[in-house]
Amino acid sequence: MTRAERAARVLEILDRLMPSPAIPLDHADPFQLLVAVILSAQCTDARVNLITPALFARAPDAATMAKLHPMTLRMLIKTCGLAPSKARAIRRTANTLVKRYGGQVPRDLTLLEELPGVGHKTASVVVAQAFGDPAFPVDTHIHRLAGRWQLSRARTVEEVEADLKELFPRARWNELHLQMIYFGRAHCTAKFHDPAACPICSWAMSKARAVAEQTLGSKLDLAPDRHTSRT
Ligand code: SF4
Repeated sequence: MTRAERAARVLEILDRLMPSPAIPLDHADPFQLLVAVILSAQCTDARVNLITPALFARAPDAATMAKLHPMTLRMLIKTCGLAPSKARAIRRTANTLVKRYGGQVPRDLTLLEELPGVGHKTASVVVAQAFGDPAFPVDTHIHRLAGRWQLSRARTVEEVEADLKELFPRARWNELHLQMIYFGRAHCTAKFHDPAACPICSWAMSKARAVAEQTLGSKLDLAPDRHTSRT
């Protein structure tokens, strides 16, 4: 089976198993989504969704957020971890939005990436989920699945993103990245997963990878290329 054929079959299965995936982080507008994505680093979406109602009640927009006292902001977000650095990033981003863009979030990937504390993945999530423009945010889960399913043999998330964008129709990128995340959450939670019983790994994973998974486990996650066919 070629990579393109595998990609088509993966899409078909994900459409069946994960139809209409919801946007995981609660928000009312692009600014609130940007803040929620910053908060989600090394934190679950569920926890972020517990924190943001109180945070956005105090500071619903960039102008109010920029004026929020740093200690108040830290207190409001402390349960999602890394509060000092996340508070700094949120304040600096809010300030920049007020100064440069009248408090609005720019609808442009490059301009978003210029914001303090906003990397390529965060900018891609905002572009895709707040504005509905095509983007393919790749996190470690998507990186891992792309390797397991022989869709990409790349080592970096940037290269995996390029491979996936080439393989899947542009119109499907936004929904597909969520479908892969939800599929991973539903199926990849067990410590000793069973590729033979998996609706996708059972046919998409190479034999070499399946054997390596049994012996090396998560050590494979960042080195999928040695066990992934290029075709
Ligand atoms: S076999 Fe393992 S890696 Fe593949 S989808 Fe199932 S749980 Fe995830």
